[in-house]
Amino acid sequence: MKKIAIYGKGGIGKSTTVSNVAAAMAAMGLKVLQIGCDPKADSTRNLTGGKNIPTVLDTLREQSDATLEELVVESSTGVLCVEAGGPVPGVGCAGRGIITAFEKLEELDAYTIYRPDVVLYDVLGDVVCGGFAMPIRGGYADEVCIVTSGEMMSLYAATNISHAVKSFGKRGYASLRGLILNAKNFAGEQELVDKAAAEIGAPVLYRLPRDPAVQQAEAQGKTVVEAFPDSEMAGHYRALAKYLLEGAAKA
Ligand code: ATP
Ligand code: MG
Repeated sequence: MKKIAIYGKGGIGKSTTVSNVAAAMAAMGLKVLQIGCDPKADSTRNLTGGKNIPTVLDTLREQSDATLEELVVESSTGVLCVEAGGPVPGVGCAGRGIITAFEKLEELDAYTIYRPDVVLYDVLGDVVCGGFAMPIRGGYADEVCIVTSGEMMSLYAATNISHAVKSFGKRGYASLRGLILNAKNFAGEQELVDKAAAEIGAPVLYRLPRDPAVQQAEAQGKTVVEAFPDSEMAGHYRALAKYLLEGAAKA
């Protein structure tokens, strides 16, 4: 079982990247479990027809003895979808939702029952508080990839996340695999990301271009891989999926 956590600044393209990679891996015949670790709970939206599925926290709030089938939704693309969810706004800690969801999945034996080949965590990385660091430190993810553009704020978040991974990494937890450039397409962007990657000490694993096919697919509630399988962008997501599966983890 390969367990990869994808972090990045808010709005940078984590959910789009993760759900397209998940759909691409599922199309290769792999069993993929995607876990959205964001109180907004829209990580798997484009896998489930543009609709948000019930979150683990909301379901547990109503029914503390909920079954696995009530927490995990299988999308038409075959990806197993989970949304951790978050607290009632203004009350409680967002990261707590992630911890609760992870503990519940384990308690209900999700990993032995579904036997996923790949687990993908989609994690908001603006704040790397205890809860948001869970995929890194709880032995959940083996590898961390950070989605970034060349914009300063997303590189700043990438640097913070990489520090968190490295500090936990000393204790034998997840290692930083590298950055995924989700391009904003401005002049000099690649150089800025290359420079930041060198400072962080991690490679740039892949460069995803900006492509209107992403929004066109989103308008249909789908991933690009599902809506436009023959498009150039779908090819990029498939190549990234293959790379993430095959490449060796970087220390
Ligand atoms: P959040 O932190 O709010 O969860 P996110 O990092 O998950 O955000 P997404 O929701 O995946 O970001 O993407 C934000 C927007 O950017 C989406 O509307 C999506 O259509 C667009 N987008 C992401 N990647 C690309 C791309 N490569 N080309 C074009 N549009 C993109
Ligand atoms: Mg998201």
